[in-house]
Amino acid sequence: MIDYNVIWHEVCSDLSIKISSVLYSLWIEGLKPLCISNNALIIVAPSRNVRDTIYKSYTEQIRDALVSTKSPITDFDVIVADQIHLYDNASSEAELEPVVAEPVPSQFLSRYTFSNFIVGDSNKLAFHAAQTVAQKPGSVEGILSFNPLFIYGGVGLGKTHLLHSIGNYLETYSSHLKVSYLPTEKLTTEYFEALNNTSSSDKNAFKFRDFRDKYTNIDVLMLDDVQFLQKKTGLQEVVFHIFNDLYQAGKQIILTSDRPPCEIPTLADRLRSRFEGGLLADVGCPNLELRVAIIKKKLALQKLNIEDDVIFYLAEQFDNNIRELEGGLSKVMLFASLTGTNCPTIETAKAALKNSNPKPNGLDSTAIINAVCSYFNVSNADIISKKKTKDVVEARKIAIYLIYDILALPLVNIGQLFGGRDHATIIYSRDKTVSSIKENKDVARKVKDIRQMLST
Ligand code: ADP
Ligand code: MG
Repeated sequence: MIDYNVIWHEVCSDLSIKISSVLYSLWIEGLKPLCISNNALIIVAPSRNVRDTIYKSYTEQIRDALVSTKSPITDFDVIVADQIHLYDNASSEAELEPVVAEPVPSQFLSRYTFSNFIVGDSNKLAFHAAQTVAQKPGSVEGILSFNPLFIYGGVGLGKTHLLHSIGNYLETYSSHLKVSYLPTEKLTTEYFEALNNTSSSDKNAFKFRDFRDKYTNIDVLMLDDVQFLQKKTGLQEVVFHIFNDLYQAGKQIILTSDRPPCEIPTLADRLRSRFEGGLLADVGCPNLELRVAIIKKKLALQKLNIEDDVIFYLAEQFDNNIRELEGGLSKVMLFASLTGTNCPTIETAKAALKNSNPKPNGLDSTAIINAVCSYFNVSNADIISKKKTKDVVEARKIAIYLIYDILALPLVNIGQLFGGRDHATIIYSRDKTVSSIKENKDVARKVKDIRQMLST
């Protein structure tokens, strides 16, 4: 018995790699498999327009995807809702030979692989560490311990992509290993649900029973976004015990966070020192070269090709978040496709990004931080760190003020740019600078000089 749902699921994961995410959600997402009839998969489209577009633009890609499922179903038909009754008896025809086992859906997105990850200066350490861990989970390389591997860096810079790459690699080459990918939010929900279902006298016992059992019986644990452990003392304790159980058994642990362990507020010392006990690898903002390479890779995966000037234009618009860069690319491709082409011009790109362009006057937070750093002759790392020397503190306050004043970014986002500082600290720095500018000519001049450097 062939399960058309499974076939369609495979087709969709194949298409999701080859088609941009905007086009995918526009045309493919609304399709539903109905049955198999005459060895063809019957798909229901939400409207005639979608059906016609599928026939016109996606026939070949869907057929290719069907062929690669290796089932005997190699063709398809698209119908609309009012034709469903024509297939009332079709389900029996789905009983075809050969019998295929129902594949267990993977926890890992198939498009997040090492080969789809572009390596540059800002992420090479994290990439190589992730590869090493995938090849030899739990091993120690001389004096270098990769356990735990702690990958940290800003939003949209590839941390989750690396975790899924490790997962996909292990599924292919070490399928005997039990691998668990766990977003911290999911663990949190499970924890509170379990806690609510436990009577108060059992709460202590619970900590060590349910969770330890569930998560210590595995070979590789990936905990994504551990910054969400902050302020959750009970959950931290549970994680501490899971960590120890796995670590002592030589199992591999991989963690990610938007900041290093020392900057996660309220993280218990003993957990922080565990997190820091292996390799800390950061992913930073990609430089222009890397952004261009990433766009080219995404285009190649979708068998698309656009002019270099459009690629550079796009790369210049998004410099600190690859997810936004991808979103920009999808928008541009969607705009182009609405005008009937796959080759957007610069004008199309500008029109597509008109409302999403994050940079007033072409300025962004990186440019402001860079200008302030070079004015005060301090390093970017210092300004983000907790360092309290006079120059660094002054530079940091002025940078925070300017980013707030020029870009009007939300305080939380500014906090993230400065190593995860909380919004009270950001407000304090901003207000302090506002009053210093009024009271102190020297500060006012410095701010003016920097504005001039940025010419705003
Ligand atoms: P994070 O978990 O750090 O917030 P993600 O891993 O979700 O970021 O990455 C956001 C998007 O950017 C994903 O679609 C991912 O494939 C893409 N991406 C990030 N870094 C790279 C890279 N170096 N090469 C290719 N794609 C990347
Ligand atoms: Mg992530």
